[in-house]
Amino acid sequence: MGQMTELISAAASWQSLVTILIVFGLAPGILLRLILLVYPKGDPRRIEHLASLYKMSWWERPLFVASQLEGAVSDGLPLRFKAYSKKKQAVERNRMQAEIMDEDGVTHEARVSQWDCAATSSCGKSFLSESYTERFFRGVVNCSDCKRYQQGSLI
Ligand SMILES: [Zn+2]
Repeated sequence: MGQMTELISAAASWQSLVTILIVFGLAPGILLRLILLVYPKGDPRRIEHLASLYKMSWWERPLFVASQLEGAVSDGLPLRFKAYSKKKQAVERNRMQAEIMDEDGVTHEARVSQWDCAATSSCGKSFLSESYTERFFRGVVNCSDCKRYQQGSLI
């Protein structure tokens, strides 16, 4: 009987030892790293919060990580959505930008409408979808007005 109680108490302490190791040692770091993924790439909070975790005492870590979850949801999620929509807009803008060759063989920089494929060049000319051919390779604009526009937009 005495051995049994000893065994049970040993198992209980073994379990509590593992629990302590997980709750205070392993989980805070892993959970915080997962929580910080909510912030957009390059956000300084990703590094700052992780550094703060290892500066504090082990018994403070679980509560600190729990409080970071609140911050990530209220601050990180909106930032993440903003970054996502910005990226999406940039992709969209890029898709509509094209280089087109008109019927005289001049290549312009143009924005192509996704609605009717009509193009408007940077030098201000409009083309219907059947009056131009889209150039597959970029960097061949030879319209001097479009080139001037490109250089102006870089400044
Ligand atoms: Zn042009």
